[in-house]
Amino acid sequence: MTAPAEASPFPAARAAFGFEVEHRLEETARIPGARVEANGGRFLGRTGTVTTPHGTIRTPAFVPVGTKATVKAVLPESMRELGAQALLANAYHLYLQPGADVLDAAGGLGAFMNWDGPTFTDSGGFQVMSLGSGFKKVIDMSTVEASAAGDDDVAAGRERMAHVDDDGVTFKSHINGDVHRFTPEISMRVQHQLGADVMFAFDELTTLHNSRGYQEASLERTRRWAQRCVAEHARLTEERAHRPYQALFGVIQGAQYEDLRRTACRDLGAMDFDGYGIGGALEKENLGAIVRWCNEELPEDRPRHLLGISEPDDIFTALENGADTFDCVSPTRVARTSAVYTPDGRFNVNNARFRTDFSPVHDGCDCYTCTHYTRAYLHHLFKAKERLSATLASIHNERFVVRMVDGAREAMADGTYFEYRDEFLGRYYAGRS
Ligand SMILES: [Zn+2]
Repeated sequence: MTAPAEASPFPAARAAFGFEVEHRLEETARIPGARVEANGGRFLGRTGTVTTPHGTIRTPAFVPVGTKATVKAVLPESMRELGAQALLANAYHLYLQPGADVLDAAGGLGAFMNWDGPTFTDSGGFQVMSLGSGFKKVIDMSTVEASAAGDDDVAAGRERMAHVDDDGVTFKSHINGDVHRFTPEISMRVQHQLGADVMFAFDELTTLHNSRGYQEASLERTRRWAQRCVAEHARLTEERAHRPYQALFGVIQGAQYEDLRRTACRDLGAMDFDGYGIGGALEKENLGAIVRWCNEELPEDRPRHLLGISEPDDIFTALENGADTFDCVSPTRVARTSAVYTPDGRFNVNNARFRTDFSPVHDGCDCYTCTHYTRAYLHHLFKAKERLSATLASIHNERFVVRMVDGAREAMADGTYFEYRDEFLGRYYAGRS
């Protein structure tokens, strides 16, 4: 709908990537009046299909995270079997180890890890600035007063390991302390070598601790970096014409400020991106509003990916505000601590009460774990610190989230989304006060 600001220099290659909107939540759902008001009068959720050189993604879709080109403890075949449509890996980690050149020689991320479906890589910006700089607050995103003092804050006991300037970021490897540098051009080259179907423009991650003045300066830096990424991406696409087309998504920052988010969307929305990522500081309370501000401004005909969310209620909030895909590390991360999801909430299967419970993790779950193993067996594996514990719990948790989002997609299409959401969340959080 919104024409790119400039004609694409690589239209033929680019035709391998596309996005088609199918159903719009606002048109299919029976929306009670109160909810319309609560949400500022609009629901931007939609269903659609993303087309990539490695297959299609029916959206909304959950994209499981395989940080280092592996979903921890789970075979790619199992991810396929449990219904995962695409996987997301981290450019920062793969750049440091084994090196982007290795993945390039292997034929790209998917070929390297034996995953034949669509793949995503993030730009590395998040890891460079969170792992690299050591400001742990980036990860927990806790609410605090923004202040000028926050601009130079480093988590207690951590050395500042990343330095941002207008051209890029210099950082120390979290593995061995070696000094590296990322610029928009280096991030693009690394991500072209990694070879994922969807890549993200290099952006600066800010935190809720940064002052308003810093947020403004950072957003301008991210805007200029976005332009450089678009130009370098076009150049690399032509240089590497023998490789499948890789789509480039611009990343929207702007923290919790509505005007900054909307400005970023208009600026990047006018650039020649294939889609958009919504990134940065997102608190639970304003997640829905931020996603909505962005999606009201972004071009309607481009897919939008929400970077890194975790809780079921956050996922529904994101979907109904127009996020098409999102990635989430939680299903495997919590699985390794014995936490498993069920429609009635999360529990820890290593709890003593499951020692002789020979029922599946969830009766009614169709995953490989639930159709072959019992709670008592998982309990034993966790107690004995056997590695199979992580595998079986991760398979179940990944399937749980895939199935939840599949259900949301179907409900958006058939006009029952709000009933589905309310029933799902009502049951999942019933045990909480
Ligand atoms: Zn299961």
